[in-house]
Amino acid sequence: MTEHHCDYLIIGAGLAGTSAIEGIRKLDPKGSIALIGTENHLPYDRPPLSKKLWSGKKKVGDIFLKDQAFYDQNGVTLAIGRTAISLDTQRKEVRDDAATTWRYGKLLLATGGKIRKLTLPGGDLKEVCYLRTLDDYLRIRDYAVEGSSALVIGGGFIGSEIAAALTVNKVKVTMIFPGTRLVQHVFPEGLGLAIKRRYEEHGVQIVTGDAPAAFARQNGRIVTTTRNGQTIESDFVIAGIGVAPDVSLAQQAGLTLHRTNAGSDDGISVNTFLQTSDPDIYAAGDNAWWYSPDLKQPLRLEHWDNALNQGAWAGRNMAGAGEAFTYLPYFFSDLFELGYEAVGRINGTLETYADWKKVNDTGVIYFLEKSKVVGVMMCNVWDKVPMARELIRKNQVVVPDKLRGAIK
Ligand code: FAD
Ligand code: NAP
Repeated sequence: MTEHHCDYLIIGAGLAGTSAIEGIRKLDPKGSIALIGTENHLPYDRPPLSKKLWSGKKKVGDIFLKDQAFYDQNGVTLAIGRTAISLDTQRKEVRDDAATTWRYGKLLLATGGKIRKLTLPGGDLKEVCYLRTLDDYLRIRDYAVEGSSALVIGGGFIGSEIAAALTVNKVKVTMIFPGTRLVQHVFPEGLGLAIKRRYEEHGVQIVTGDAPAAFARQNGRIVTTTRNGQTIESDFVIAGIGVAPDVSLAQQAGLTLHRTNAGSDDGISVNTFLQTSDPDIYAAGDNAWWYSPDLKQPLRLEHWDNALNQGAWAGRNMAGAGEAFTYLPYFFSDLFELGYEAVGRINGTLETYADWKKVNDTGVIYFLEKSKVVGVMMCNVWDKVPMARELIRKNQVVVPDKLRGAIK
């Protein structure tokens, strides 16, 4: 058994974990840092896995967050291809699956999210894929040859982005999801239906109000039977049915978790300094429940900018900054010709006011609650996130019509 001592131990070599290194180094140039990560790659960016690697704007070699020299120069001990399997908060020790014991001063849990899997007959066929990791992308790429066909399950972020990306790569795509429109929990109804029509114009077949019930391989193809009794044939399947925050270590160590209204554990609760219920342990990224002073509510976000900034913030606080997390993250997506950035509470069920330059294509949507702007989505309108944040922070009662031209 090997033992290691480090001042800062980071579990999870994703975006939040990697950003924490820079955060720590802003205040502490010397303290020892170790980064443990399950995946067998240097930390990389996930957004290109469903976008720029398919449009050809990036190659695999371009997506790594930092090169090896960065870790060497910052004196980071990298334990890649290792999983932390136990956490003892009394002894301040973590054990990994290679029987190494890591003693820490401060610990960051940046364990992100785990994909939800379909537990259906035939769900373990190798052609039934998911998209979270670089290895998942490489696997899908092997199936996604020109002229092949794919069934995409789920109409959320992954489903909508990968369906567009595959179509552009001349893969014939059918989508299936339980709702009536794409990314239903985000887009207002009008825009959601317009995007669905746009997908259909690009040749994507969309089955709404249905979900898969079973898969079988027949004559080298995958036959999916749906709950409504349809059958859909394809060469492969990609399911994007959500992720669950990875809280296994926190749960095992007895740290406080966030309880949903439905009574299940959903993410690690952190205070304004991103500390968990153990003050020497921090959490950041997809797995953390924090309080947003701008939105006046606790929340957990599964988006890139949140992981980037929260990770760096946690790193600075681990090194003694003592700064409350006051950042309001944004998110972005690309769906064929529609690209957008959004900030605040973006929820298809809120009242909205749309200020379009070109309807359902270019313009700004304001999300309102009690006549105040709580979220802003900018469709094919760029570099306006700071203005949108300002508007949300003003927290003023507005007359929707007067929002015309507020951001353009
Ligand atoms: P993760 O990226 O999940 O990283 C956590 C890491 O920790 C993983 O590598 C995991 O293997 C590792 N780990 C977990 N437990 C352990 C353990 N016990 N021991 C060791 N290692 C462990 N967001 C946007 O805003 N815009 C986008 O366009 C966008 N596109 C995306 C496209 C794809 C295909 C995906 C999958 C996500 C996308 N996202 C996007 C979401 C964004 O990438 C995530 O919110 C972000 O990656 C979260 O970072 P994280 O570091 O919190 O977690
Ligand atoms: P998601 O956005 O939550 O969408 C899940 C989709 O799957 C929804 O359409 C849901 O329908 C559907 N669904 C759930 N169970 C199903 C079932 N049994 N059969 C068929 N459909 C089912 O999750 P995701 O698309 O998988 O994305 C995973 C994670 O990656 C999220 O954290 C997301 O934020 C992140 N991500 C973000 C971006 C971005 O920000 N641009 C891009 C890619 C990924 P209902 O809504 O009706 O339940």
